[in-house]
Amino acid sequence: MIRTQGYTQFMDFSQAQQAIPQAPTLAALEDLRVSLLGLNGSITAQLKELGKLDPEARKAKGAELNQQKTALAEAIAARKSVLEAAELERRLSTERVDMTLPASSVLPLGKLHPLSVAMEEIAAALKALGFVHAYGPETETDDYNFTKLNLPAHHPARQDQDTFYLTPWAELKETYVLRTQTSNVQIRTLEAVAPPFRVMGIGRVFRRDYDLTHTPQFHQVEGMMVEEGTTFANMAAILSEFLRRYFGQQFKTRLRPHYFPFTEPGAEVDMECVFCHGKGCKVCKGTGWLEVLGCGMVHRNVLAVGGLNPEQTPGFAFGAGVERLAMLKYGVPDLRLFYESHGQFLRQFGQAPVAAA
Ligand SMILES: [Zn+2]
Repeated sequence: MIRTQGYTQFMDFSQAQQAIPQAPTLAALEDLRVSLLGLNGSITAQLKELGKLDPEARKAKGAELNQQKTALAEAIAARKSVLEAAELERRLSTERVDMTLPASSVLPLGKLHPLSVAMEEIAAALKALGFVHAYGPETETDDYNFTKLNLPAHHPARQDQDTFYLTPWAELKETYVLRTQTSNVQIRTLEAVAPPFRVMGIGRVFRRDYDLTHTPQFHQVEGMMVEEGTTFANMAAILSEFLRRYFGQQFKTRLRPHYFPFTEPGAEVDMECVFCHGKGCKVCKGTGWLEVLGCGMVHRNVLAVGGLNPEQTPGFAFGAGVERLAMLKYGVPDLRLFYESHGQFLRQFGQAPVAAA
């Protein structure tokens, strides 16, 4: 075996004692250790020869060799610590970190989720038209989610909304659901506030549904105006203005008759397609129109919850999906993108959170 320093040559004890303190590197010192004390080292070799000697000589030679072995091991350990200290010193002086260098990048700031942005923009557009925030709980009684909205227990329209029913505690007399619509805000407002009022409810709703255009949790915006003299024409004008403010430009709108249990009459609002401006494209299925809102004059059975009648204090209500409005405004093709938390998707929506004052 040829090692770097050639210590495999036979070396006697006094030569070894001189060589060890002069070993220049840790690698050279290790070579030296192997050549003396390793499996085939010179001291080891002499220890193996002891068996050939007669007992008296073996005893004396054995003691001598063991003393030499201990002395050499100690010398090697001493040299090793000197060389290691020198190596550490070298690394500390050459691998120094320059604390004055500028940091490589500024920490990225988070941004508002596009749905949060959409809800703020919707609220701002409605606020400009005199609507104020109103609230309803996400866990709602069957009564407020359905019955008081003119949807009694036997009503077939209940089937349209795949409802999450909560397991009742034994002591609760009422049935609880995760609200399927923000319309519970209408009932709670009618019970608590005297007209005239304009309120908006924006928040989470829940349905047992999951596919390309449905998620089990999504968001709705609900609005209601109750005031003496309110007409269907007022509703059409206000909704058209709301859409103009939210989308930032005027699109043509039209109303189609539609049945909702809690309105009479009810309608759906179509808006000129934002992608093709009415020419017809894939998104609007060639019709040039997009369905954006449901609305109608508040049904007399619903007004009755607040002790009102439509001859004296009529009102209108409307509702829309926040995700749908956001998809149309930002050109997002798949509803689920809002919920999959891909940084690349989310970073496109530039609004940074406003710092607290
Ligand atoms: Zn279109």
